[in-house]
Amino acid sequence: MTTVYLSDKLCFICGEKSKYPMGNLSLGNVSVRDLDGRPTLILRSSVYLWIQRCPLCGYCAPEIAEGTDTEKQVVKSEEYLKQLDDAAFPETANSFLCHGIFMRSREQYADAAWAAVFASWICDDNGYSESAHTCRGKAIELFTHAREHSQKFADSMQQEQIYFIDLYRRRSQFDIASRLCDKALEEEHTDRILDLLYLERDLINNRDSAAHSEAEADDPNV
Ligand SMILES: [Zn+2]
Repeated sequence: MTTVYLSDKLCFICGEKSKYPMGNLSLGNVSVRDLDGRPTLILRSSVYLWIQRCPLCGYCAPEIAEGTDTEKQVVKSEEYLKQLDDAAFPETANSFLCHGIFMRSREQYADAAWAAVFASWICDDNGYSESAHTCRGKAIELFTHAREHSQKFADSMQQEQIYFIDLYRRRSQFDIASRLCDKALEEEHTDRILDLLYLERDLINNRDSAAHSEAEADDPNV
């Protein structure tokens, strides 16, 4: 059973006391997902609880009471302040992208990339399709940096490759997605990974850029 409640917290940056929604929802305890990792069914909206935003100073973090010297510096930067209220994105997407700026500053590229993916889901929900496209572009760039720095962003390299393929597919970059998918299919995989790659290949062939659940890979008719 999932519970959500409000908790008083002090902002790490400015000390402002505010109430934040808390819950035991996270990506880690989800069994049914979209191909890009988004939880399906009842946990689909849980992403809105993953980031906290101080109403006074604009600090955005998964845990508002915690931070480092990097956050103290970056929160005052021009780039951060511009992102915080960028009208091209819904507010929660801006919060994730701001969190991503901290992560990138700390060279935690995998975390920064996931923040961009989470921002893309918020954009999807609110009909900001161009902004979702932008977020997925940032995610691809940051996941690439993560690879270059030997930072893992999924359970296996094969799963990481599926995330890349899905990001390109969701951006309607079908040629790149198709090339990556065909290349991956030349290698040996577990049945599960093969099912997901076949699903991606079918979606790419159909020029389908919508969100799809991993569960569709279990359906023999897909
Ligand atoms: Zn604050």
